[in-house]
Formats: sequence, C-alpha cells, structure tokens
Amino acid sequence: MERTLSIIKPDGIRKNIVGEVIRRFEAAGLRVAAAKKIMMSKDTAAGFYAVHKGKFFYDELVEFMSSGPVLVMVLEGENAIALNRKLMGATNFKEAEPGTIRADFAESIQFNVVHGSDAPDTAAFEIAYFFSASEIY
Ligand code: GDP
Repeated sequence: MERTLSIIKPDGIRKNIVGEVIRRFEAAGLRVAAAKKIMMSKDTAAGFYAVHKGKFFYDELVEFMSSGPVLVMVLEGENAIALNRKLMGATNFKEAEPGTIRADFAESIQFNVVHGSDAPDTAAFEIAYFFSASEIY
C-alpha cells in the first residue's frame, strides 16, 4: 500500500469535474483516504512548489494555484504514486496519453487540472503539508 497527494487544481474545480476525476481514481483501484476543499494562500502555494522556485513559471504557478479553491486528497493503493501519475498524463497535455485526465481536460501546460506527487519522498512531504495523521483514514 502506498499513499500519494492529489490536488484538483483551480481550473479543475472551475470546470466542475471533481466527480469525474475521482471516478477515474476509484475505477483504477485508488481509494480516497483524505480530502478537503481549501483556498491556498500565496504563501501556502509558494511553499508547496518551493522546489520550482527560480523557474520562469514559478510566480505564475503560485498565482494560479492560489486563484481559487482546490481539492486536496490523499490517494491510497498499490503503486499509488505511479498509478496516479499514469492516470494524470504528462505535464504538457499535448504529450499526455489519450484517455488521461490531462489529455481530456487540460487547456495548457499550466492549466492542467491535477497535481500528483512524483516520488515517495515528495509524497510524504506533500501529504504532511496539508494533512495531519489523524485526518487520513
Ligand atoms: P507535474 O509534476 O506534472 O505537475 O509538473 P512539474 O512539477 O514539472 O510542474 C508543476 C506545475 O507547474 C505543472 O503541473 C504546471 O501547472 C506548471 N508548469 C510546469 N511547466 C510549466 C511551463 O513550462 N510553463 C508554465 N506556464 N507552467 C508550467
């Protein structure tokens, strides 16, 4: 069993596709172990994406992620990290496999609907960034 952090980004919330995205996770065998809808402050978004600090898209990304509510979730299952990334598709929706969330719903490399942890260490950091142990079941 593995856990990963998933975020339905502000564009996904605006598109009203929360149910569709979660349906895909569940159909693939992932389980929602925790979920909450929050509005990230700029500081929260900046800290979450600190690894990208200095990149040309960082300021825009922080602006975008704090532009509206998001749904943060802990997904649990076998190979949850890799499986979630597979369901999401490539960062650039133009390179995403057909049938993935980003291929179906993303509008640009930035407005790409979902976030997912990319490795065990980032998953641990990202889950703890939003959830305490007592909020995950
Ligand atoms: P992810 O793990 O697939 O989400 O990709 P990254 O960790 O590399 O990037 C984080 C987020 O920054 C992406 O999901 C996009 O929303 C945004 N992003 C990444 N690359 C670019 C880029 O070249 N331009 C812009 N505008 N945004 C980007």
